[in-house]
Order: sequence, then C-alpha cells, then structure tokens
Amino acid sequence: MLTLTLLLAGLAPAPVTLDVPIYLGADLSEDIVASALHETERIFESGGIALRFDLSPNGHSSPPLVTVVVLPRPARFKVYGCSRDRHDHRLGHTQLRARRITLWSEQLMRAVDGDWDRTELPDVDDHVYARALGRVLAHELGHALLGLNGHRDGGLMRSDFSHRSLTARGRRAFRLAEEDLQAIRDTLLDAVAKNKSAALRLLDGA
Ligand SMILES: [Zn+2]
Repeated sequence: MLTLTLLLAGLAPAPVTLDVPIYLGADLSEDIVASALHETERIFESGGIALRFDLSPNGHSSPPLVTVVVLPRPARFKVYGCSRDRHDHRLGHTQLRARRITLWSEQLMRAVDGDWDRTELPDVDDHVYARALGRVLAHELGHALLGLNGHRDGGLMRSDFSHRSLTARGRRAFRLAEEDLQAIRDTLLDAVAKNKSAALRLLDGA
C-alpha cells in the first residue's frame, strides 16, 4: 500500500489546495450542499486542485483567496457585463477584484426546471439540482481564480450552459482546459508562497 502511494506520488504532482469559505444565506438542505460541493470538487480534482470548503467560516488569519455567498435571488435583477442574457450570469456572479462569488439558489431552480417564465418556484429533483449547483459554482470559481472576465469557447468556462448540459449525469462538458488548470495551480502556489513569506516576516519581526 505504501509502495503504491509512493509510486502514485511520483507520477502526479501533489495537489494544491484551495480553502473556500462559504456563507450560506439560502435555505438548502445539508445533503444538497454536500453533494453540490462534491460535484465542484470533482471538476477541479482531475487537474490536481483540491478544494476545501468551510461552511462555518469565522474569520481567517489571512484573507481567503476567494469567498462564496449563496443567496436565494439577487436584490434587483440585473444581467451582468460580458455576455448578456446568458444563463450563467443569471445563476451566479463573480466580482473579480474582490474574488467574491455570489450564487442565486432560486434562479438555479428555474434553470434546472428549464422554464424561466414560471413565477412560482419549481419542484426540482434534489440530485439534479445539486449537480447543477456544483457546476455553476465551479464555473464561477474559474472566473475568480483565472481573473477571467470573458469566456472560453468550450468546457467549464464557456459562456452559457444549456438546461440539458447543466442537468446531465456526465460532466464531460465541464472540463477545464489544461492551460487554465495550470494557470489556476500557479495562482494557488503563488498565494501559498506569499502566505509563507508573510508568516516568516511575522516570525522575524517577533
Ligand atoms: Zn461566466
């Protein structure tokens, strides 16, 4: 077992870890949240990026690289910037500078249901809803970590998700391009190095 672990460690680079504090301001069951976050983790783990979610964040010694807020709906409906009237921007939004992601749980219910014009909230399957939530979170994390204002032609960072691909079982359509994965790994490694040198400076100054 140890030999196998060592062997595997020799093949793949050690995963870089990202801590993600989540402020849950929407009424979602623990099961839905857990399975959504699992979906998000799976999208990043193939690229050697491990996500560590914290659902009860209580202040960090160093500011988090990215923060997630989940709310039922926007205070005022607004279609944001780069690509108008696209699904993903009705489902979530990322403030690049603050690296703050906001997701809207009720909007996502409408997207999963496939009917945006319905006024009452649709009844959606928990598993399918969680899967879609995890994918939208992964997309917004991509914006935040890549500092990407626009979109790619395909994969996770494309500009719009059809109802079908959001809810489909397979996650092939949600892959990150290798160069994007590398850019995210570089950002995370850079943040680790900065935190380390800040900690060392604190020790030196003591
Ligand atoms: Zn987007």
